[in-house]
Amino acid sequence: MDRRHCLVTGANRGLGLEFVRQLLARRHHVVATCRHPGKATALNTLAGEYPGRLHVLPLDVAEPRSHAELARELALVTDGEKLDLLVNNAGVLRGSERFGHVQPADLEASFRTNAMGPFLLVQTLASQIADGGTVANISSEVGSIALRQEFRTPSYAIGKAAQNMATSLLAQALESRRIKVVALHPGWVQTDMGGEQAALTAQESVAGLLQVIDHLDEDDSGGFLDWQGQTLPW
Ligand code: NAP
Repeated sequence: MDRRHCLVTGANRGLGLEFVRQLLARRHHVVATCRHPGKATALNTLAGEYPGRLHVLPLDVAEPRSHAELARELALVTDGEKLDLLVNNAGVLRGSERFGHVQPADLEASFRTNAMGPFLLVQTLASQIADGGTVANISSEVGSIALRQEFRTPSYAIGKAAQNMATSLLAQALESRRIKVVALHPGWVQTDMGGEQAALTAQESVAGLLQVIDHLDEDDSGGFLDWQGQTLPW
């Protein structure tokens, strides 16, 4: 497989860290972003193991100023090479919400991180994404209005539904440059967010997601797929 330049958000743990591991194993160049690079022990260890192929840069996806700083630093670490893959992975989930007690701060945090962050980051980095490249927005079936069955995790669900609309709009905005933008559900995965009882390991989920990304064509852009390539209803 060709060497590619990839960027992953929320890369210090969970699915983001596993994306970094598997992309490095595929011999790609990876820019791993996280809120606190100085504390990202696993990433910094990997950077030592893959000199020159892994760069760890700061990014708080909920802070647009941070996007602009990343755009400047990205040009330096990639030597002007464009990104073939941007994985908008960072996300937040507030558990234990009950109707009547949903907090504005939780709704706002979810919107900023899960929806506004990926949308504005793509807008800021658009000129640094290669024509024909891919933007993978890690969504959730919880953001599907069609699949909604109960009142659960409203802040997260509303944020991910908004992210899904952002995916659809970005696919249209970038269509003329053949950049594919998709919403991907990783399954229920054993991470801090998914918990120990989850059905999938991060390795299984990310391996599946990368297969799905590998096989995307232009007709898939603007779509909502799970880690096995099945189409999900909006
Ligand atoms: P996780 O273990 O909780 O990790 C979340 C990651 O997002 C962490 O690296 C965290 O960084 C980062 N993050 C949160 N807010 C951020 C911000 N403002 N700026 C930058 N980074 C931020 O979750 P995960 O399971 O790996 O989830 C990854 C993605 O998959 C999320 O979008 C999630 O919604 C989605 N997903 C997960 C599951 C599942 O079962 N696990 C299911 C469906 C969808 P810090 O360490 O700094 O907090």
